[in-house]
Amino acid sequence: MATASESAVQAWKDKAASFARRELEPLAAEIDRTDLLPEAVVAALGREGFLGLGTPARWGGQGGGAREFVAVLEELAAANPAIAVVLAVHVSVCAAPILAWGTDAQRETYLPDLAGGRRLGAFALTEPGAGSDAAALRTRYRTVASGYELNGSKMFISNAASAGAIVLFATRDPALGPAGISAFVVPPGTPGFSVAQRFDKLGLRGSETTELVLDRVKLPPEALLGPEGRGLAIALSALAGGRVGIASCALGVARAALEEMRRNVRADDTEWKRQLLGSSYAELLAARALVEEAARRKDADEPFVDQASAAKLLASRAAVAIASRGLDVGGEAATRQGSAAERIFRDARVFPIVEGTSEIQELLLARGFLKASDGRTV
Ligand SMILES: Cc1cc2nc3c(=O)[nH]c(=O)nc-3n(C[C@H](O)[C@H](O)[C@H](O)COP(=O)(O)OP(=O)(O)OC[C@H]3O[C@@H](n4cnc5c(N)ncnc54)[C@H](O)[C@@H]3O)c2cc1C
Repeated sequence: MATASESAVQAWKDKAASFARRELEPLAAEIDRTDLLPEAVVAALGREGFLGLGTPARWGGQGGGAREFVAVLEELAAANPAIAVVLAVHVSVCAAPILAWGTDAQRETYLPDLAGGRRLGAFALTEPGAGSDAAALRTRYRTVASGYELNGSKMFISNAASAGAIVLFATRDPALGPAGISAFVVPPGTPGFSVAQRFDKLGLRGSETTELVLDRVKLPPEALLGPEGRGLAIALSALAGGRVGIASCALGVARAALEEMRRNVRADDTEWKRQLLGSSYAELLAARALVEEAARRKDADEPFVDQASAAKLLASRAAVAIASRGLDVGGEAATRQGSAAERIFRDARVFPIVEGTSEIQELLLARGFLKASDGRTV
């Protein structure tokens, strides 16, 4: 019999599947072509309660844990991964660190609006010279009479142009290394804060990715998130949780690729096509098992960081591999610009990069494995 939590997961999954069929599937090709996400779709995410997942009812959210969240993200991403990434960023790396590290006043200011869809959340860590090596960031802050002043720039930031809250990282002095980095919550419309450019991407089109400039941005003392000097720890813990969500988005894309491949393979078709379908199906099932295990461990407060990296690495890899085979199976028609297989392939190809590249996941896993192998069985 299904436990209460299993039925809750199933209820969210069903809700997301029906929303995806109704609101996202009909728009997927148009969103990709125009690179624009209709405001009504983002508003609907709030109305359906998806933006409040993971935020307790006390702060205006829907509650729920990682298992509900990955079930929802897989369904949305299978129809449109751009909207799933908007949601993943909003919940995992904006609302979650405000909930985990914020004061009650910060939670009161931001969480009900984030959960209700009145504000969209963003996370600004990456810089032109600091991607994989986040500790090398150069955006500076200094203490001034009114609080803090920030100067610098941020690169490839999702959701930021329309964000109502940005969790942003800056250093007091790059020479201090990780100990110099602090986290801030930046509200929209802060003078000196601007969007310098919006990038025209290969895939995940519709999910805006922007460069931000901070020119003498003044923030009050209450904009500091968590203790001063703990910014890197805040970023890394948010990203570990974020990887579970991004892995489930990649899983949704892998599923869409497999479903598209199935349309091109009949039971009496050539053996090589059926073999590609079979091995792709196995990879999808393996990726889903990893995503679900990472989410289960996170909800159970068990160590989940290695599982999150493994899920992100292998679900992204599965998405790219299955989408690529989909082009082989679909042949010339699949490679035409605007075909579903071609769009899915472009979307899949972004996942090994976003929220920590595949190479970085491998390095993190090697570190985790070496530590875990020290006297224990993995
Ligand atoms: C669509 C999209 C959305 C994004 N959204 C956000 C966001 O909302 N917020 C945010 O802060 N960032 C965001 N990013 C940035 C993303 O996290 C970075 O692109 C990613 O961390 C890689 O950084 P980089 O692009 O600077 O590449 P680099 O770090 O310069 O890496 C380039 C290549 O070198 C490899 N490499 C780097 N270091 C090592 C190493 N030590 N060993 C082996 N290989 C290495 C990498 O794996 C990669 O293949 C987004 C990126 C994309 C594409």
